[in-house]
Amino acid sequence: MTEFTPNESQLETEQDLQEAQSGHQQEAAAAEPAGPTFADLGIDGCVLAALENIGYEKPSPIQEATIPLLLQGRDVVGLAQTGTGKTAAFAVPALSRLAELADLNGPSSTTKVLVLAPTRELALQVAEAFSSYAVNLEDFTVLPVYGGSSYGPQLGGLRRGAQVVVGTPGRVIDHLKRGSLQLEDLQYVVLDEADEMLRMGFAEDVETILSQTPEEKQVALFSATMPPAIRKIAQKYLRNPEEVTVKAKTTTAKNIRQRYLQVMGPHKLEAMTRLLEVEEHDGIIVFVRTKAATEEVAEKLRARGHAAAAINGDIPQQLREKTVDQLREGKIDILVATDVAARGLDVERISLVVNYDIPHDTESYVHRIGRTGRAGRTGDAVLFMTPREKYLLRAIERTTRQPVEQMPMPTVDDVNATRRQTFAQGITDAIEGEDLGLFRDLVDSYVAEHDVDPVEVAAALAVIAQDGRPFFAEELPELSKRKDRERRRDDRDGESGGRNRAPRSEEGKATYWMAVGHKHRAAPGAIVGALTNEGGLDGSDIGAIEIRPSFTLVGLPDDLSRDDLKRLGEIKINGQSLDIRMDRGPKGGGGSGAGRPRGGGYGDRPPRSGGRGPKGKQSFRGNDRFGGDRFGEGRDKRKPKFKKNY
Ligand code: ADP
Ligand code: MG
Repeated sequence: MTEFTPNESQLETEQDLQEAQSGHQQEAAAAEPAGPTFADLGIDGCVLAALENIGYEKPSPIQEATIPLLLQGRDVVGLAQTGTGKTAAFAVPALSRLAELADLNGPSSTTKVLVLAPTRELALQVAEAFSSYAVNLEDFTVLPVYGGSSYGPQLGGLRRGAQVVVGTPGRVIDHLKRGSLQLEDLQYVVLDEADEMLRMGFAEDVETILSQTPEEKQVALFSATMPPAIRKIAQKYLRNPEEVTVKAKTTTAKNIRQRYLQVMGPHKLEAMTRLLEVEEHDGIIVFVRTKAATEEVAEKLRARGHAAAAINGDIPQQLREKTVDQLREGKIDILVATDVAARGLDVERISLVVNYDIPHDTESYVHRIGRTGRAGRTGDAVLFMTPREKYLLRAIERTTRQPVEQMPMPTVDDVNATRRQTFAQGITDAIEGEDLGLFRDLVDSYVAEHDVDPVEVAAALAVIAQDGRPFFAEELPELSKRKDRERRRDDRDGESGGRNRAPRSEEGKATYWMAVGHKHRAAPGAIVGALTNEGGLDGSDIGAIEIRPSFTLVGLPDDLSRDDLKRLGEIKINGQSLDIRMDRGPKGGGGSGAGRPRGGGYGDRPPRSGGRGPKGKQSFRGNDRFGGDRFGEGRDKRKPKFKKNY
């Protein structure tokens, strides 16, 4: 969960504060260099001491603005970007009030504070923040309640009593229905990450909960953005609220190096693996645009020997949390995520953020790259940008007022230099770290028996370990656009030779029918080109293509909207509109090959020779913990050669 090591968070503290106060805050800070301290805000001494102990030096702008208002009992709407310290902004005054109440009336264990948060992770983070600020409060309990976990412990906790309950809306409603959560004594409600709760469809639940709270209470709403629906909730449930906005942090942190790599959609995976191979990294987050892409990219990275996993909104909370923990613990190195799933994620290990798909707005970009450079560390951010997306990059640079430096695609020489190094390091590590006794004896007796140079023996062992896979990456030919598209189609078929095969059913893809075929001279390259260049689809959106005399079947994302289909349908190939629609199959049913199992090595290479996970997980065996074999992917004995995706 959230780490709260005082020393580290001290660093993080200064870091985040500087970030939060840079940019738009700069002018104010310059005019009035010494803002108020926490003590100036009128916080209870016990809480103050805890903040000092954690290492918070002074309040962040949102805290400075909202804490005094909340201490006065005002309703507050607090708008500030992720990472600006909103949790303490509502938790510190809440605890301060609880401490005063306890001084006045003695201990009480009824629920006084209810915080609603959109996800299990965030509920846990908030609950942990509460406990860390409340270390000096006697008889204090905070209880997180969330879905996806058993009721037992939560019921027990509620029975024993918790002054603060932090929960996801659905589970809070469940507890209200069961009568296990009682709100008669409630004094303060917080809607945290309100925009996110709304996005997740919790609006109705939130209203239901609010309608079951006592009339007399204080309400605070914290959010990164203020869509109209949130404004409506605020108008309905907050009393004469003071609205505090801390300008979006459009300045990105100085400790994050930002680069972009120009790459065509179908080459992204190759770019990604080369990047992983030539640069040392600890934890990595890869951002993609769709849920389906998280699975797809994670799977392909695993097939190439990386310890990768996907998180997206469809994966149950509990599993998501587990995956994040695995990243934290180093059991996996790469998390492939959508924006929503990775929101607010705080994992210190993350040293690289890859924008595999470019985000559509600057704010998401800033959020995304803010996942690295935590706790005062430095971080790297790399953005994959297709030529058509240049304007988005320019927009990001304009808004953040920071240049993003261009990064060349790592060359084959770079990759091979790393492979040499990895090879050598693997030997050094084995000599230093392993007990070589048995093998030394075996080699010794072999050398004595056969009278060969030990170097020969070592080389032979390397050949065995390499298991037929090429050691060096090969220079990749410049591909003409057309050839490139043809080859991509071959990759999708999983076979070269250009034989068209019935589309396979792939996860997240459905078979669509198009009104062009051989008689319209519709070549696969032209179809892919039309769908990507004119249709705006990504290369990875396109599955197998089967061209028939008068029509074509093609695998495309199964969630194309009516508008998408209309737009795509108007594209023409050799004068014929695609007129695309979901395939219903011939009368007898499904000429689409649905249900056909996915072949092994589907467009994937075997795990590469080094098998090196990011940072120091060299292995000479080529199959890492998450290597291809284990996941039944990638290795294709008949075709020892790497299949090039570039
Ligand atoms: P938000 O909810 O706005 O996204 P959080 O409340 O999660 O932000 O805070 C982000 C980080 O900033 C946390 O690691 C937190 O410990 C740290 N932080 C909060 N307030 C301060 C402060 N006054 N000084 C230093 N660090 C702080
Ligand atoms: Mg927050």
